[in-house]
Amino acid sequence: MIRLMTRAEIEEFFARLQKIEPNPKTELEYKNPYTLLVAVALSAQATDKSVNKATAPLFKTIDSPQKMLALGEERLADAIKTIGLYRGKAKNVIAAAKILIDKHGGQVPKDRYSLEELPGVGRKTANVVLNVAFGEPTIAVDTHIFRVSNRTGLAPGKDVLAVELSLEKRVPEKYLSHAHHWLILHGRYTCVARKPFCPTCVVRDLCHFPDKTKELPPEKPRLKTPKPKASSSKP
Ligand code: SF4
Repeated sequence: MIRLMTRAEIEEFFARLQKIEPNPKTELEYKNPYTLLVAVALSAQATDKSVNKATAPLFKTIDSPQKMLALGEERLADAIKTIGLYRGKAKNVIAAAKILIDKHGGQVPKDRYSLEELPGVGRKTANVVLNVAFGEPTIAVDTHIFRVSNRTGLAPGKDVLAVELSLEKRVPEKYLSHAHHWLILHGRYTCVARKPFCPTCVVRDLCHFPDKTKELPPEKPRLKTPKPKASSSKP
């Protein structure tokens, strides 16, 4: 069983991620809470890049539930057909637009219960919207956050809910608002699934993963973040 990070290690872990990226943002493109909700719902089992590619032209004209409803399911499906599971997603987005108009005055609700009532919106999507659009300190556990939390000993858990609840308890309050993005970026660009880039990882000495890689893999590291300065990372 992986050793849990101590409070001091967790504090240092986030301090370093914060130093690299003081103001982390979602990589999904959006114009307002509604387009964020749609983008996050479309991103299930799809990359942010593929979603952005489809939504860039769509969101130029469609940025409200009313306009989405007027567009209709068929034309929406056609606009997002490069995204996996697009037919089901188009159906859900149209059904959600109707509910937003009928029950919420065309606005995206700010509470989890109402968000999760929308078709195609689960706990993860609701958490992203609450965090990104409304500044709530929620953590939406995706595949990257699940992996990083378990590997490092930050907040191990058998399933995404266990990891989410553990993160909420263990992440210092001052880091909670941005923790979600720091962990996603770290998992996406450094602590990647197959061969993590441990030799250049800024939290290497804090991480309890027993199988850290000793050398960089032959493929070029996809580090988005700058390499740590000697002073910012202990050996
Ligand atoms: S040292 Fe390796 S396993 Fe640990 S967080 Fe960094 S990249 Fe991930």
